[in-house]
Amino acid sequence: MQSFPIFLTLQDRAVLVVGGGEAAARKAELLLAAGARVSLIADTVVGEIAQLIAEARVSWAGRVFDDHDLDGMALVIVATADEALQARVSHAARQRSLPVNVVDRPALSSFIMPAIVDRAPVTIAISTGGAAPALARRLRAEIERALPATIGRLARFADIFREQVRRTLERPRDRRRFWDRVFAGRIGELALAGDEIAARRELIRLLDSARTETASLGMVHLVGAGPGDPDLLTMKAHRLLQQADIVVHDRLVSPEVLALARRDAERLYVGKRRGDHRLTQTEINDRLISLARAGNSVVRLKGGDPLVFGRGGEEIEALVAAGIPVEVVPGITAALGCAASAAIPLTHRDHARSCVFVTGQLRDGTIALDWPMLARPRQTVVIYMGVENLGLIAARLEEHGLPADTPVALVENGTTSRERRVVGTLATIEGQAARARLTGPTLCMIGEVIGVSLGRDQEFRFESRMGL
Ligand code: SAH
Repeated sequence: MQSFPIFLTLQDRAVLVVGGGEAAARKAELLLAAGARVSLIADTVVGEIAQLIAEARVSWAGRVFDDHDLDGMALVIVATADEALQARVSHAARQRSLPVNVVDRPALSSFIMPAIVDRAPVTIAISTGGAAPALARRLRAEIERALPATIGRLARFADIFREQVRRTLERPRDRRRFWDRVFAGRIGELALAGDEIAARRELIRLLDSARTETASLGMVHLVGAGPGDPDLLTMKAHRLLQQADIVVHDRLVSPEVLALARRDAERLYVGKRRGDHRLTQTEINDRLISLARAGNSVVRLKGGDPLVFGRGGEEIEALVAAGIPVEVVPGITAALGCAASAAIPLTHRDHARSCVFVTGQLRDGTIALDWPMLARPRQTVVIYMGVENLGLIAARLEEHGLPADTPVALVENGTTSRERRVVGTLATIEGQAARARLTGPTLCMIGEVIGVSLGRDQEFRFESRMGL
């Protein structure tokens, strides 16, 4: 580092500017912006500087330089073309250890004037150590373009709360994390947008929750991500995603939902699709525990609802056993999301008095389900993870008395823009599913209620005709 960058406080300090032209005017203006009292030494003044004098913003002695002009000055800037004068002022200032800059004469200067981006109170100073002032100006232009014009507003907003945050969060790490959340998240956006009232309200809420979080070190929030459409997240899930240090997710969580996590939150993918178990359940549990123990606010994001066929129960057990605080935030389970999206009433006064959710996954080569219970009339059966075993499921239900023409709907990637539906009957659905090549998460719904929506939903009716 060729020179040491600092920011000088010049509020109400006296500064001497030597020179009466354009260069002097530019320096005087910057100094005035920093609150300095500017005195000018020049035989003659022209242009803007004359204007500043006329407005009494700069005081002008109107005579030649004298060493005593340096008395009481905090800083000297020489902006005259008169080389003898440059050398004289520079020498006199250095003798008094007074910081002096001679415009474009690094050899005569004890400090460099950087290129400045001024978004008060945010100030960015750029220096190339005097080597390439043009490069510094280019950099300044790039930074100006990249920086929101209202960034200063954000800094002023943060300043209001600085003391309060310092008192509330004692550990520097907690404060750093808190401010990161403020600047990277919604609060920062609100402040930048000038909605200070909302920003204040949210900041106080965040400070409140940050306080309780640090009291209990880390914790795990078991959060339902819903079936895919990000609009179906709960507000609480959204807020936690904005505050998380780490988001642990698997395949079922849609990219659209994941995109709502705080930009610089760490994301940890733990896999889980049939045959793609990145980590075993025990490894996931252990990871959650160690992340929380390290003081992180962990959001364990699970597709749909965390406690519906999501092994959330096992994660809770492991966390509780390890003494880690757990909070569960429900989500819209696939059955509710898909039913809503396809306008299938899960219960209906005439067609379904009950509704059961079961898993169609094999265990030891069979599906251990209560078939007589599932084959009851006037009931909607929703099967998670069942699409691979549709043939087996349909055959069992028929064996136990459900008519072969009972309607069946399959919904793949329900509630997302990639949603597809296949509608048929117990007799036809296996073949239809094979032809449709369903590769995304798919939910199977069986029962007379599906016929109800066939009468209502144009698209559904069309697909069903195609399918049947
Ligand atoms: N906890 C989740 C279910 C996890 S089991 C929930 O509450 O929804 C995984 C199964 O859920 C998938 O095999 C599929 O049957 C179903 N599923 C999850 N998301 C789905 C979606 N968007 N569309 C259709 N089925 C979905």
